[in-house]
Amino acid sequence: MEILEGVKTRVYRFGNKTADGNRSMKNLLGGKGANLAEMSAIGIPVPPGFTITTEVCTEYNELGREAVIALIKDEVEQAVASIESQMGATFGDKDNPLLISVRSGARVSMPGMMDTVLNLGINDEVVQGLAKRTNNELFAWDSYRRFIQMYGGVVLGMKPESKDDIDPFEEIMEHLKHKRGIELDTQFTVQDLKDLVYDFKDAVKKRIGKDFPTNPWDQLWGSVMAVFNSWNGDRAVYYRTMHGYPADWGTAVNVQAMVYGNMGDNSGTGVCFTRDAGTGENVFNGEYLINAQGEDVVSGVRTPQQITKLGSQRWAVLATIDEQERFEKYPSLEELMPEIYNELNEYQEILEKHYRNMQDMEFTIQDGKLWILQTRNGKRTGAAMVKIAMDLLKEGMITEKEALLLMEPNKLDELLHPVFDTAALKRAHVIAQGLPASPGAATGKIVFFADEAAKFKNSILVRIETSPEDLEGMNIAKGILTARGGMTSHAAVVARGMGKCCISGAGALKINYKARTLTVGDKEYHEGDWISLNGSTGNIIEGKVATMEPELSGEFAELMILADKHADMKVRANADTPNDARVARNFGAQGIGLTRTEHMFFEVDRIKAMREMILSDTVKGRKQALEDLLPMQRSDFEGIFEVMEGCAVTIRLLDPPLHEFVPHQLATQKELADEMHISLQAVKNKVAELEEFNPMLGHRGCRLGNTYPEITEMQTRAIIEAALNLKERGIVTKPEIMVPLVGTVKEFEFQKNIIVNTANAIFEERNETLEYSVGTMIEVPRATLIADLIAEKADFFSFGTNDLTQMTFGYSRDDASKFLPIYIEKGILKVDPFEQIDQEGVGQLVKIGTERGRSVKPDLKVGICGEHGGEPTSIEFFYNTGIDYVSCSPYRVPIARLVAAQAAIKANS
Ligand code: PEP
Ligand code: MG
Repeated sequence: MEILEGVKTRVYRFGNKTADGNRSMKNLLGGKGANLAEMSAIGIPVPPGFTITTEVCTEYNELGREAVIALIKDEVEQAVASIESQMGATFGDKDNPLLISVRSGARVSMPGMMDTVLNLGINDEVVQGLAKRTNNELFAWDSYRRFIQMYGGVVLGMKPESKDDIDPFEEIMEHLKHKRGIELDTQFTVQDLKDLVYDFKDAVKKRIGKDFPTNPWDQLWGSVMAVFNSWNGDRAVYYRTMHGYPADWGTAVNVQAMVYGNMGDNSGTGVCFTRDAGTGENVFNGEYLINAQGEDVVSGVRTPQQITKLGSQRWAVLATIDEQERFEKYPSLEELMPEIYNELNEYQEILEKHYRNMQDMEFTIQDGKLWILQTRNGKRTGAAMVKIAMDLLKEGMITEKEALLLMEPNKLDELLHPVFDTAALKRAHVIAQGLPASPGAATGKIVFFADEAAKFKNSILVRIETSPEDLEGMNIAKGILTARGGMTSHAAVVARGMGKCCISGAGALKINYKARTLTVGDKEYHEGDWISLNGSTGNIIEGKVATMEPELSGEFAELMILADKHADMKVRANADTPNDARVARNFGAQGIGLTRTEHMFFEVDRIKAMREMILSDTVKGRKQALEDLLPMQRSDFEGIFEVMEGCAVTIRLLDPPLHEFVPHQLATQKELADEMHISLQAVKNKVAELEEFNPMLGHRGCRLGNTYPEITEMQTRAIIEAALNLKERGIVTKPEIMVPLVGTVKEFEFQKNIIVNTANAIFEERNETLEYSVGTMIEVPRATLIADLIAEKADFFSFGTNDLTQMTFGYSRDDASKFLPIYIEKGILKVDPFEQIDQEGVGQLVKIGTERGRSVKPDLKVGICGEHGGEPTSIEFFYNTGIDYVSCSPYRVPIARLVAAQAAIKANS
């Protein structure tokens, strides 16, 4: 095997302990292809084959089928010949046939999102040869029947016509089973399979008006093109959009010699993980089926058996069957085929060490010989992600930096969500148990169809089994419950990838889609009934169960310590109440980057005084109302300062347009008029007066403080007095007073003067002083351009990237959701710029603002307090811009701490 210099290679071969590619070529060969090459090169037995590159997928999208076939035909033919010589069989030969598989493989794993065709290269003649050669007629005809079924579905579009419809091939099989009085596919006789093949082909002809293709090469090209097409199929597009994977990545196509798990009782197929993907525990585990092909394990149609004896025993406890029954009916691979098990165990150890990460492997045993079909870094829950990385570190397999880089930051989110309240859980009525497929707590109303998951605010999707079509609904639902399927079923794998709570294989459930009922024993539950799932134990609980806050402990806490050790950017939190501040501090926030004072005014007892202030026409009247607000604000600040003892707390002066505070409903307007002893009309007039065409660009931010200085005075007083009160109690505070929405230097200067004068007056009154700083938000594009001038007056900057995005794009924050999804769908924008910082535009303003600010004040403290402060790609960008800290919502703090460490490691490597 040789790659010629200067000639573009589109097909990469592997097999027999050699390979053209390697694992570093994921972008070109896709994850699966790169790993097959790597495995082959390190001596793991993989069925020989080749990979058509992802670039060819893009060429296919541009040039179309015929042109692409012309481009790769020679290379593919040579690669098929190479498989033929390694396997000692010939593609399409009626005496000694080689059968092949065609699988997709993008650079990232997209389980079940794209298409696969197995047993390719078979027809009425080849099947005879296969039967003779293997001396197994049943196997040969079963392979043929499977091929027509898969090729028909994937390439020829033989799918159910509506959601209530069943698969056209399944329908034919069900009909035959019924006629023959049998239940399982494995009970079909050779004659049954022959009849099925005949009926399947007939169904194809009737539906598409053409004969089923008999030429193996036509079958091969049809399948390759179908895989390329599946990259743009609905499922894949949805998955790609959800994860932000660009369309131009394309998928590779992997073509391999078929190996058979369905050649009898000495054959089988399975999926295994080097560690537990749900908990992270260091135990080899997995599932397999005797006499089956790969899709049988993941489809959840048959209940798979465990790979290890330990797993099998644990499973028996959950399945409530006794040891004898387990041993007889569901023996582990370790017990049933000890030699094969030992070999598999050896490979899993080699592969985990080689990849230095938990592996998810697929294997097939063909007539007593083990083949590894695939390995990849296993998908895992957030909890497992943390445990595995910390364990690998402790085992000396990876370094601290590698452990941190193994983390997918957003996955930590799962560990930061509520768990079931332990007291409530004690009272819970467990109605059944299933497999703990993906941990977490979920409570919601039952829905039976994925496309109806949005019917309730909190829904639990209850299915017999799930399929890739259900993806969108699974994403919407709070939890997933299936009656069938094991730990590697579609539902389980996808749910773990999403970090969604899932219980699979709950055999005690009887689900009736038509009646929309779920029956357990003699109890019946209906659509809309509350149900709760404990994905960590597999317990299915009747009704709604209360949840409680999660804790940062164990390996998670160790990880955070490690992150802080490697990070050199600080993480603060946006917190408006002492309670928010407490959550933030518990999650390791190193300060508060933004307290939005207006949120405090919306509380019932305060809104009244606020409204009186706004409705008042005189300074005296406003001061009067502000007087009422002062003690409340002061005590809020005291609470926050106390929780954040010793840390910086940035408090922002009033920002939103005043009309947000006034009542718009007649009844409330009346109430207010009565309380203030003014006429209803006067209230109405004032409300009308405050209406603005563009409130976001209107009378808000420092424009309020500059037109109503008494507001700034009152807020400054509340901050400084609170800090002084704490000082009296020996509590150290670091108040930072922040002026919002500054666009000119004067705007800031006016505010700063008020703040400084007020503070000085208080210091004089109390004969006590305090250190504090006065800075500004940078959120108006103009402010970034004159940042040097502003920095001469301001002690610190904090970029308000929400407003900065709004004003740089000219997209209203409040209305953009009307068109942004369409922009993203059409590819006008790649992502929502309010979620991920637009590095090209808004990001440049952040850079300019920072540089210009520091050009006059080199040690100017610069932070970020827009929503982007909690979003991983944005945090990394801010780090590289030289920002001192990001500030995000309390629940994002651990994520931001991790990303800060990752960004530092990446930047210094
Ligand atoms: C911002 O604009 O980014 C910001 C933090 O302020 P707010 O979201 O309150 O306007
Ligand atoms: Mg703002």
